[in-house]
Parts: sequence; structure tokens; C-alpha cells
Amino acid sequence: MPPDSQNLVWIDAHSHLQDPRLAAHLPQVFARAQAAGVGRIHVDATCEADWPAVAALADAHPETVLVSFGVHPWFIRDRSAGWLQNLRDVLASRPAGIGEIGLDARLGDDLDADREAVFRAQLDLSYELALPASLHCRDAWEPMLKILFALPPHPAGLLIHAYSGPPDALAPLADKNVHVSFGGTLTRPKNLRARENAMRVPAGRFLLESDAPDLPPTLPEGTAPHLIGADGKLLSEPAYVPRVGRLLADLRGATPAAIAAETTATARRLFAKLLN
Ligand SMILES: [Zn+2]
Repeated sequence: MPPDSQNLVWIDAHSHLQDPRLAAHLPQVFARAQAAGVGRIHVDATCEADWPAVAALADAHPETVLVSFGVHPWFIRDRSAGWLQNLRDVLASRPAGIGEIGLDARLGDDLDADREAVFRAQLDLSYELALPASLHCRDAWEPMLKILFALPPHPAGLLIHAYSGPPDALAPLADKNVHVSFGGTLTRPKNLRARENAMRVPAGRFLLESDAPDLPPTLPEGTAPHLIGADGKLLSEPAYVPRVGRLLADLRGATPAAIAAETTATARRLFAKLLN
């Protein structure tokens, strides 16, 4: 019997299926996602070099894959001189959002000012084009919230993935049309912050994600893992999204069916321009 015996439909709001670690396993990854009821998978680019692979996934799986293009804060060093125009061009070439973009203060280099400028340029572009953008934030909540709270509500909506920010920011972020998503880190028993955020995020403002192949869930003892990376650790994949959804349902005192319906409706609204 499939893990979801109730025919629920889930959407994976954030993944990196273009990652080379998944390349040899993609047919099984898609098959397991389908068996688990994950009907749509949003794939986020990370640097100009992976944009063609992201576009190829959308071409190969038009019923399933939605895509966003952008420059991730980890990879700003790799951007070309013409990266921003290249981003405009790829966004004009097909239905797509902007992502993954953001801030990360844990990299220990001297590029934080540069990183913020690259983030701002892409965030501004998402306002200009009224396209949803997917945001990464690690150890940079102060500058991130300062930037977002100084802007008007986003015309299409933003998504902060794997949200680990302050619970008190969730309601004012919702007023700015900012959504958050929860993935494998929510299943870690000691992650009380994520659990509090999952309970407090306003209705209609949360999504579920795999962040495949990173941020895998903690599987219950005795559960066979699908994919193990070269480092011996579990790789995340979209098929794990319903696990996160069921935990979120528990935390919010809702049924899995209600959470599946709500997150799917929210994703369809947020990613409406990507769904053509
Ligand atoms: Zn990501």
C-alpha cells in the first residue's frame, strides 16, 4: 500500500532535482514522488551553470516540474559579468519564478556586501516582473527582515524556504505576502523552533518542501532509506514531503487531508505564473 492511502495530493515547493547527486536516480525519484501523491515539484536553480539542467527538467516533465532561475548566495562567485541580463533572458523564455536567492552569513568569506547586492538585484527584479521568488536565509535574519519589512507587499508572493526565523516575524511577513515552507528539518525531534513556527504560521502562508537532495528528514527507526549519498548520509527527495505534511498536520491539530489541500491550494496560488 502506498504511504498515502487516502489519495492525497501534495506539492513539493522547493527542490534541486538538477543536483548531480540525483542524476542517476531521477526515474526512481519521480516514480516514488508519484506513488507518494506528490503531483508537482518546484525545482530551484542555484547558479547560471545549472539553468540549462533546470530548464531540461521542465521540458522532460511538463506535467510535474515547475522551475525558478536565480543565483544562490553560495554561488555568487560563479556569476558572469552579464548574469542579471542572462536572468532576464531566461525568465522571458518560459514560465518561471526567481530562485533560489537570499542571504547567508555563515559562509565566513568577505563577500557579504556583494551577496546582499546580488540578492537585492534579484528581489527587485521579482517585484518589477511580479514573479514569485524563493528565498534562502541562514544566520542573516536581521538584514533579511529589515529588507523585507521596508518593501511593500510582494505583488506575486515570496517563499522563504526551510524557515528558521523568529516566530514573531511570521504574521508581519504574511502581511508582506511572504510564505514559508517546512521540510526535513521539521522532523528532527530537537528542532523546537521549527515546530513552534509550524504551529504559528498563519493559514494560507505555509508550504511543504524536500529541498532535495539536502535537508533530509529524520526517518522513524526501521524505515528503509531511498537514497544514500557518497558521504553515507540520507539524501532528501520529494517522496518525503507527505511525511512532513503529516507531522505538520499533527502540530496544527489538523488532518493530513486538510494540510494537503491547503498547501496544494497555496502553492497553486503562489506559483500560478509557473504553471503554464
Ligand atoms: Zn534550496
